[in-house]
Amino acid sequence: MKIGIPREVYPDERRVAATPPSVQKLIKLGYEVVVEAGAGEAADYSDESYQNAGAAIAVDTLSLWKESDFILKVRAPTEHPGTHKHELDMIREGAHLAGYIWPAQNPQLLETLAEKQVNAFAIDALPRISRAQKMDALSAMANIAGYRAVIEAANQFGRFFTGQVTAAGKVPPAKIMVIGAGVAGLAAIGTANSMGAVVRAFDTRLEVKEQVESMGAEFLELDFGGEEGSGGGGYAKQMSDEFIKAEMALFAEQAKEVDIIITTALIPGKPAPKLITAEMVQSMKPGSVIVDLASERGGNCELTEPGKVVERHGVRLIGYTDLPSRMAKVASDLYATNLVHLMTELTPEKDGQPVVNMEDAVIRGVTVVHQGDVTWPPPQPEAP
Ligand code: NAD
Repeated sequence: MKIGIPREVYPDERRVAATPPSVQKLIKLGYEVVVEAGAGEAADYSDESYQNAGAAIAVDTLSLWKESDFILKVRAPTEHPGTHKHELDMIREGAHLAGYIWPAQNPQLLETLAEKQVNAFAIDALPRISRAQKMDALSAMANIAGYRAVIEAANQFGRFFTGQVTAAGKVPPAKIMVIGAGVAGLAAIGTANSMGAVVRAFDTRLEVKEQVESMGAEFLELDFGGEEGSGGGGYAKQMSDEFIKAEMALFAEQAKEVDIIITTALIPGKPAPKLITAEMVQSMKPGSVIVDLASERGGNCELTEPGKVVERHGVRLIGYTDLPSRMAKVASDLYATNLVHLMTELTPEKDGQPVVNMEDAVIRGVTVVHQGDVTWPPPQPEAP
């Protein structure tokens, strides 16, 4: 079977779904690989590097989609500005597709894939169990986003992160608060701490306290009658209005004191909780910075503008939605490796022929369209 790697066309998307090392591994699994000309350019991979790894190069978009049996992508299929077609109109009937699909948000996309008999695998629907960690693109990208959030904050901040005593005077360290200590939040804590900032963090899940402290930050605690945010599988549950109110009172106090706030609070399947009000922004010192990693899902801060940096009340608000793509090379390396692991699971005989074993929990979880049927959501395991 032939795997096709298209050039991503979503605005500001610089990642690519395969790299020369991942191409070599896909070939070892028995596949042929064809890469669209220029697909890796924004991630610093030349067409020549793919050819050296054993891939063929398709000179134009239409021929890439036409000759591919299995498309590996980053972004869900979208309008293609170059061909004026939708990528769904270019994919072959009966082909396979793996990449981000966001099945909960894209029911129409699933229907169209089913009509075209495309077998679709959503990397974002992977069950978060230990065996699936090597395929966990959400975590790989969240780790990059957390790191990059600190770099973007440093870029907008007019001071050092670390405290310094110089001949010209003493400079205090930057104080940073991280809200939400999941994968992205912990990466942000580790990065900020390594740059010398004084870091504190809050999460509704008390189980992360130890992880926060082991990364060198203080864990901010809220005494709230035992209400706790763990909702199973490491994910958060929605908190009571009273809890959110108490949490926001804590942030209102902190906002006056800290220089930088990095917010990452999300609840699966729900809009991002609004935790930082315009009033809190106004209470921050001039020159402070807020990075809102929940920006794409509505934002944790009332004043965030998705995709932009804006200044409000003397505070810079960073709402970038493309943080992993701003580190396109490492993001592509890790994402391509996640996909190789998925393809390895799908190709037990290493004969270039995918086998969709719906009895396997990982394969079942990611398979959102199979043989003309929408197969998302997967059945929930029965309660013991
Ligand atoms: P996420 O991106 O869905 O959420 C980010 C964080 O926001 C979470 O820590 C959540 O508790 C927090 N949050 C939600 N509402 C909040 C609020 N009102 N105030 C403050 N914080 C709030 O989560 P994620 O980073 O994708 O994953 C969360 C956890 O899942 C990880 O820490 C890990 O324990 C677990 N996980 C497990 C696996 C696995 O394979 N076993 C893989 C990935 C993640």
